[in-house]
Amino acid sequence: MAKPKVYVTRIIPEPGLSILKEAGLEIDLHESKEWPPSREELIEHVKDKDALLCLLTGKIDAEVMDAAPNLKVVSTYSVGFDHIDIEAATKRGIYVTHTPGVLTDAVAEFTVGLLLAITRRILEADQIIRKGEWNKPWNPFFLTGPELKGKTLGIVGFGRIGRAVAKKVKGFEMNLIYYDVYRNEQAEKELGVKYVDLETLLKESDFVSLHVPLTKDTYHMIGEKELKMMKPTAYLINTARGAVVDTEALVKALKEKWIAGAALDVFEQEPLPPGHPLTKLDNVILAPHIASATNEARARMAELAAKNLVAVLRGEMPPALVNKDVVKVRPLSEVKVL
Ligand code: NAD
Repeated sequence: MAKPKVYVTRIIPEPGLSILKEAGLEIDLHESKEWPPSREELIEHVKDKDALLCLLTGKIDAEVMDAAPNLKVVSTYSVGFDHIDIEAATKRGIYVTHTPGVLTDAVAEFTVGLLLAITRRILEADQIIRKGEWNKPWNPFFLTGPELKGKTLGIVGFGRIGRAVAKKVKGFEMNLIYYDVYRNEQAEKELGVKYVDLETLLKESDFVSLHVPLTKDTYHMIGEKELKMMKPTAYLINTARGAVVDTEALVKALKEKWIAGAALDVFEQEPLPPGHPLTKLDNVILAPHIASATNEARARMAELAAKNLVAVLRGEMPPALVNKDVVKVRPLSEVKVL
């Protein structure tokens, strides 16, 4: 019997590919660590495949799915799945899986890093020395910034990453508040976090950190109106998805000092085009979507993405299924090919 086929749209860390090989899959690998396949290549290669392992850089919509009549599972190497048309997949009986949990600590650690870097001006400090501008003796006013202790951190989206951020900053002795569509009273008690509505969070926070998924409800959730609600001394941190924030409004807010600054890992357009208005501002720090970039998290993501995919093809419930309703459209027994 011919082996079931998988298209993998990028070289991923081990043990991802080994798991796929050991499961007996025929792997069609897009042999690049850096570049995704073009749209045309993606459609061409997925045509005869049973499974697709993709990254967040590939838009997986109805057109891609319709090009692949044998497709049973789309496994994304990411926790966010805003690049996949979930409704279209469910309708077609295609299982969509993702990699939640395994990158939570990495993203939360990076968020804390951004919080410290923007408030204590660590990047500016480094640049001043490198440019030979550290040419005066120590002075009490040089590169000062706000202390975290006693300040209020507002967490928007209190899921895995939002809660992990709360856990990690506990040692800083901050006041923690959060907003989410769901209240989590157990986590409130455990982490000493208070639930508030979004408006209160924006008005009371010294730091606002975003951890919601990108959906039609969270698209531009932080726009001009919301930025104006924030304190002029407040900072915005975004490690969620770029389009949760209206970039144009943010640039205006930073230029006109409605807020003190921002630290961003994600952007509406990625890569951020050279010369983008954000790159001209000195009250923002920018990172190229690397919040999950620990060696450990990237390997665990590969392992989970591969295990999800293999599980579906074995007719087993995958560890992290996105579209739970798909089982009603096409039961697991009908996708079993391994
Ligand atoms: P999660 O599902 O555990 O948490 C998301 C939380 O947001 C949930 O509690 C949910 O109820 C809440 N939420 C959803 N819609 C909302 C809305 N309209 N208003 C308020 N709250 C809302 O997800 P997670 O694992 O914590 O990841 C969160 C997001 O972080 C991902 O969806 C992804 O886009 C992003 N992310 C980014 C990186 C990066 O590299 N920068 C890495 C991992 C995840």
